[in-house]
Amino acid sequence: MRRLVATGDSHVGKVRKGNEDALLLRDSVYAVADGMGGHLAGEVASATALEPVEQLDGRIFQDDTTAVTALRDAVVAANERVSRLAQENPDYRGMGTTLTAALVEGRRLHVAHVGDSRAYLLRDGQFSQLTDDHTLVQHLVDEGQITREEAAHHPQRSVVTRAIGVSEDVDVDSMSLELVPGDQLLLCSDGLTGVVEDEAIARTLLETEDPDAAVATLIELANAAGGPDNITVLLLRYEDPDADQGPSGRTIAISSRVESDDRNWAGEMGRYASLTRGGPLTPEQQDEEGRSAGAILGRASAIVIAIAVIGGLMFGGTQFLLSRSFFVGVDGNQVVVFEGVNRDIGPIELYRVAERSEVALDDVQQWYRPQLQAGRPAADLGDARALIRNLPLRATEDDDEDEEADEEDAQDGLDDGADPDPDA
Ligand code: MG
Repeated sequence: MRRLVATGDSHVGKVRKGNEDALLLRDSVYAVADGMGGHLAGEVASATALEPVEQLDGRIFQDDTTAVTALRDAVVAANERVSRLAQENPDYRGMGTTLTAALVEGRRLHVAHVGDSRAYLLRDGQFSQLTDDHTLVQHLVDEGQITREEAAHHPQRSVVTRAIGVSEDVDVDSMSLELVPGDQLLLCSDGLTGVVEDEAIARTLLETEDPDAAVATLIELANAAGGPDNITVLLLRYEDPDADQGPSGRTIAISSRVESDDRNWAGEMGRYASLTRGGPLTPEQQDEEGRSAGAILGRASAIVIAIAVIGGLMFGGTQFLLSRSFFVGVDGNQVVVFEGVNRDIGPIELYRVAERSEVALDDVQQWYRPQLQAGRPAADLGDARALIRNLPLRATEDDDEDEEADEEDAQDGLDDGADPDPDA
């Protein structure tokens, strides 16, 4: 009798004060979410995102299509819940989370995924990353701008290009495949993969007979490497007790994702280019990498825009979202509000124009212009508008215009007052 053994654990790590990761482990659904946001918002985001996935537990589906559609819908529902909470509650503004979810029905495995948590499959000594990282560095790797080695140590490796809860819409990756006895499926947050090499993870899974011990060892490895982030590990083993599949010293091959099309993965396990860490690619691999880069080109512009709007950035070990960060700057000769973070990564801008004002740079007093050109940070969009309203402008000849501006200020003040402070 074949059976699925599932176990998992989450650890705060050695640096963070709280654990913003969340873990779902039920009979037929499993998920890892890695929340981002200030105060307790990250924890709220990750816990909330798991709720719609949990509702699928125990459900029977007619076929693969209905199962994977239900799982995708649950991820979309998670996005709606988290983004609504973020909009409704000022404390949760800007929060978001990754979500990597698995649904198992008999031998069929379905995975839906957004963000930089990961799903891996270990089969016959082949350790394959099933999910794409929705990160800036993965984008740069796909574009051929940096190598995988460079990506692993890139200072902006935590910038995520897709997350749950930061926008009303979300693109969901999904895949389905058929499990074979001996398969091990690993879902994990970047607190593990950011500091522990794939090979060490695979070896632990292969050499540790007890699944609880394997999970504990992976968390220990991440903490031994500094534990800079919350660590969440969820392990599924598809076992056939009648067959002989004890742990062995088999060699391990590491595979990474090079293609990102939404499709059925069954029977395609052999098509990954193998990742030779630190070594040169074979001509076939280069060809494969080249084709995959071409295949995602259509998505590239969308991704770059997404980077400007959505994302998390690592500053001193703290991850937070780029979206809903604002600053006032200059576009051409126009004073504008930018959304995002006031910096570029290589050729990629991490911001976009959110709102244009009617103020020209020439209207602003000369001494203040360099500050605008450098970009003035704002707490939120309202703060950015106030900053523009209060810009030191050059004296105008028409006093009536000034009066009109004052009236507008008074009106804006009333508008701001419509959002009452609950503590007042
Ligand atoms: Mg994390």
